[in-house]
Amino acid sequence: MVELQIEKTCGRARAGVLNTVHGQVPTPVFMPVGTAGTVKSVTPEQIKACGSRIVLANTYHLMLRPGADVVGALGGLHRLMAWDGPILTDSGGYQVFSLAEMRKLTPEGVTFRSHIDGSSVLLTPESCMDIQSALGSDIIMQLDECPPGQAPREQVLSAVERSAAWAARCKQAWQRNEEKNTESASRVEEAFEPVPHSLERLCHRQSLFGIQQGGVHVDLRAESARRIVELDLPGYAIGGLSVGEGHEPMVAVLDHIDEQLPKGKPRYLMGVGEPRDILAAVLRGVDMFDCVLPTRNARNGQAFTWTGRLKLRNAIHARETLPLDETCPCYTCRNFSRGALRHYFMASEMLGPTLLTIHNLAFFAQFMAVIRQAIFEGDLESKSASWLDAMYRQESEA
Ligand SMILES: [Zn+2]
Repeated sequence: MVELQIEKTCGRARAGVLNTVHGQVPTPVFMPVGTAGTVKSVTPEQIKACGSRIVLANTYHLMLRPGADVVGALGGLHRLMAWDGPILTDSGGYQVFSLAEMRKLTPEGVTFRSHIDGSSVLLTPESCMDIQSALGSDIIMQLDECPPGQAPREQVLSAVERSAAWAARCKQAWQRNEEKNTESASRVEEAFEPVPHSLERLCHRQSLFGIQQGGVHVDLRAESARRIVELDLPGYAIGGLSVGEGHEPMVAVLDHIDEQLPKGKPRYLMGVGEPRDILAAVLRGVDMFDCVLPTRNARNGQAFTWTGRLKLRNAIHARETLPLDETCPCYTCRNFSRGALRHYFMASEMLGPTLLTIHNLAFFAQFMAVIRQAIFEGDLESKSASWLDAMYRQESEA
């Protein structure tokens, strides 16, 4: 079971350690996204060298291809990915609502058409738990309904209701699976002497997180939080943000989470990775983040730095001998000039996306580390202002 040990607070911001079966994770933390069981273009060794300690994988993609049973046959997701750190899997719900066609919502679950082979798939709270149990991730997410950013209030309210009912069913199915896994692990223990080293791995000890919905409506957010918190789950996520509502409405929602969610448990803001949003959320008591931003932008030739973003394809970098960031300790910055990186992108060389992904992941890990440090030093608010000023100055001038 994951547990958050809070070591220091600074206002509502918290610095701590997330204890998992697969190691400890300092928080606040950013989780790179490994959509189909791989963080695109980098190896697990490279991910680790960037400073990332926990990764996310997408249940939706893995259940359709290669299928949860195939992942199970290959020894589970940790084995498939060759990643021995903690993994969080989402529920698949978000992609069902954002990607899939022919969606049909019933109290039972959601039926959709696979974008791989067109087949009809029914995802229920129970099957969602079974799939994530087969994947063997450390943190699993409840099935929820994530309405679009511009959804009318009635639709948001019905998503809150449905998500809360599904959370309760997920809890039952998760507990049933945990008992099954514990039993089979103890059978292995009886059959083999001495206890196999991997015993702990066999007994997943997965932790289920509930998801708060409610759009930008403060009262619906409060009701949603109340409904999932009464289930007493290992952690809680804030869903349905960064879906086009903008920075200020997001912050207005986050302003209430410290009173809505229990202090002793991890809080995870789903799908948010813009540095400005991460800072605002940490200041309001969020511990965990994930987003495709650093990896997707890297593949498009965009680097994150402390003084803003660099577009490597710009001609201005053609003869530049400086690294992306002289203060960055990552492999890319220690070995390659901006000019070399630009050349790889212009020539469509595979190394370009790999090197930029390494840098961007290292930048996000460093960003979270300095945020954590500032919480310990008690001056996160003042430091945030100067970081944001340097990072977004170009944009505000443009
Ligand atoms: Zn770097």
